[in-house]
Amino acid sequence: MLYNQVQDLKGTIRVYCRVRPFLQGQANGQSTVDYIGENGNIMIINPSKQGKDARKVFSFNKVFGPNVSQEQIYVDTQPLIRSVLDGFNVCIFAYGQTGSGKTYTMSGPDLTTEQTWGVNYRALRDLFQLSKERAGVVKYEVGVQMIEIYNEQNRAVGATALNERSSRSHSVLTIHVYGKELLSGSILKGCLHLVDLAGSERVDKSEAVGERLKEAQYINKSLSALGDVISALAQKSAHIPYRNSKLTQVLQDSLGGHAKTLMFVHISPEVNAIGETVSTLKFAERVA
Ligand code: ADP
Ligand code: MG
Repeated sequence: MLYNQVQDLKGTIRVYCRVRPFLQGQANGQSTVDYIGENGNIMIINPSKQGKDARKVFSFNKVFGPNVSQEQIYVDTQPLIRSVLDGFNVCIFAYGQTGSGKTYTMSGPDLTTEQTWGVNYRALRDLFQLSKERAGVVKYEVGVQMIEIYNEQNRAVGATALNERSSRSHSVLTIHVYGKELLSGSILKGCLHLVDLAGSERVDKSEAVGERLKEAQYINKSLSALGDVISALAQKSAHIPYRNSKLTQVLQDSLGGHAKTLMFVHISPEVNAIGETVSTLKFAERVA
């Protein structure tokens, strides 16, 4: 191994929570985020409840408030990403209801300004740059693949789909790294999966019919299978239930073992999102 800055994160699951700001055109309404602590705590206030039931604290590795920049988000993600060049497997997920900021974190809103680039583009740039810097020591080859998982089927998609994707499918950008140490001839193989998950919102069964209901059931199934896998890993269970969904099957080699996992859970601050916000945070606490 060349650079082992993040050895300590091996096999661990980290969970970061990101709160998006109120969107332009929305009045700065009442926020359900009461308080964000430096230590990874976030307090949520539920306006429809009274007294001590109205407030609940959730704890994560980090919590990023609405004013945290894309750059700052990347700084905290970079060590994991760079470890791929040392031969680690890394999975980074974006979880949350539709509209909570998953695609913003992973892709960003606008590719024309580097300042707003999301994790995907920064990771690619970083990996190419670092592999160039190490060219005298290791010869690297980097391959990129993009797949979309819709209704539990697998399909390859073009790179342009990165920003035009449906919120009803999971999109997985995979970066394979293959390196040969020039002096020793030893081989390094690493893999980075960057996953923009389908929206986690519950669909009202009385309203959804046909395709929409089927989609919702598939999404539900795969997100709960993912939750089951990650919480089994976090608890160091003997049996990890990878086979319960396409998503966990595809990612099996990069979840668990020596792999490193990071989940960004996203919440919207609006009062009308409180139900989804609480279920998102509960899901995230289960895997943390
Ligand atoms: P999702 O992918 O979860 O459905 P998006 O990433 O598309 O949500 O975000 C929904 C809207 O909120 C978009 O207009 C996006 O630009 C905006 N948005 C999300 N997160 C942020 C943020 N951290 N700062 C500013 N705008 C954001
Ligand atoms: Mg999206």
